[in-house]
Formats: sequence, structure tokens, C-alpha cells
Amino acid sequence: MSLVKKNIIKIIEELKKNNSQKTENVRLVAVSKGQDHSKIREAFDAGQYIFGENYLQEAINKQKALKDLEIEWHFIGPIQSNKCKLITENFSWAHSVDRIKVANKLNDSLKDQASLNVCIQVNISNEDSKSGLKINEIDSLADYINTLDKLTLRGLMAIPTNTSDDEILRNEYKQLKVIYEDLRKKYTSVDTLSMGMSNDYLLAIENGSNLVRIGSKIFGKRA
Ligand SMILES: *Cc1c(COP(=O)(O)O)cnc(C)c1O
Repeated sequence: MSLVKKNIIKIIEELKKNNSQKTENVRLVAVSKGQDHSKIREAFDAGQYIFGENYLQEAINKQKALKDLEIEWHFIGPIQSNKCKLITENFSWAHSVDRIKVANKLNDSLKDQASLNVCIQVNISNEDSKSGLKINEIDSLADYINTLDKLTLRGLMAIPTNTSDDEILRNEYKQLKVIYEDLRKKYTSVDTLSMGMSNDYLLAIENGSNLVRIGSKIFGKRA
């Protein structure tokens, strides 16, 4: 069995065992940035069909080589507004929407195409260097996205403080979970709390995440 396949099986097992949601499975996005398309194919053969990419051109090149596979592509990197059209053409999800301008551009780019699933990226660590919205700005962007006919608001995405201090991380996840539950009450389309990466996914799902984005723990080091 390939190493990629072994890693995926192990992670899915862990997600099942540690899931704090009683009624739903935790979804796994395999983050394939910096990995060759052959690795994506390997993961697909192991049953993984959701992949996340950060860099548009790199992603499009790989997508060309993988056209024969029914992959659900998630865009998880920062979104420049001049890239919105290409994102809508090549992805079914965008996790990193953080401003009205980008929401508008994505919506306008879709035209006759099906809708795009979006998450609002939250700057939960409140570091100025990080992308994402401040907590008190989430409601107004959510309201706005909800008025756009081609975007489906699915939830929130966050990258926590870069720390190994579980207490800090737990606090951030818990805060986000509360905001997520409020949002879910308001919008029936909301069903996704996207948090947890290779180093923190178990802690994230213990604290309410229902979608994790895992790269290096599946594929190994990035190029
Ligand atoms: C790169 C990246 C990941 C995956 O990170 P790993 O530590 O390799 O699991 C997840 N989410 C986002 C937004 C990323 O940029």
C-alpha cells in the first residue's frame, strides 16, 4: 500500500474516532499545494475525492492532468479579485472569502454556471498579518453574501494562531464554534466549520470543526 493511502486511511479512522459531532462525519480536504499531480491521483485511488489548493496557476496546471477524475476542488488560498473568474471556473468551493469586493466578483463571474460554495475566512488569532475578517465584521459580510444569487454561504474558515499551546488553540476554536452556531441559526445553507490542519486537526474536531484541511500529514513535505 502506498504511503499516501496509508496516511489517508489512518486520518479518516482518527476523524471517526474523535468526532465530537454526533450527527455528521467530519469532511477531509486533502491539501495538495506543492505536491505533484501524481500524488493527487494516488490519494484519489485511495478514495479521497476532495482536494484543496492555494495557488491558482499551480492548481489549474494540475487540474489539466487530472481531468479524468471526478474531483471536488476547494480553493483555500488568499483571493485576489482579478483571479475570481478563474476560481469560479475551476473550483466548486472557496474557503477564503473575506470582503465584499471579492464576493461580488465571484458572483458576477458565475453568470450561467452553477453556484459556488463559500466560507468566510475569519482572523481568529487577531494578528494584523493574517488574512480574514475580524469577528465583529462577520455578520455584515454574511448578510451580504446571502443576498448574492450565485453564492451559497456554507460557513466559516479559520487558521488559528501558530502555536503549540493547546489552551490558546482551544479558546480560538470555541469562540469560532459559538459564532458558527449563531450563523447556522440564521442561514439554512450554513453547515461548515472549516478548521484544523496537520498539526491541530484532532484538537479542532474535538472543539466543533466538521471539515479539516490536511496537507503534509497526507502527502509529506511540500516542494
Ligand atoms: C497549506 C494549508 C493547509 C494545510 O496545511 P498542512 O499543515 O500541510 O496540513 C490548510 N489550510 C490552508 C489554508 C493552507 O494554506
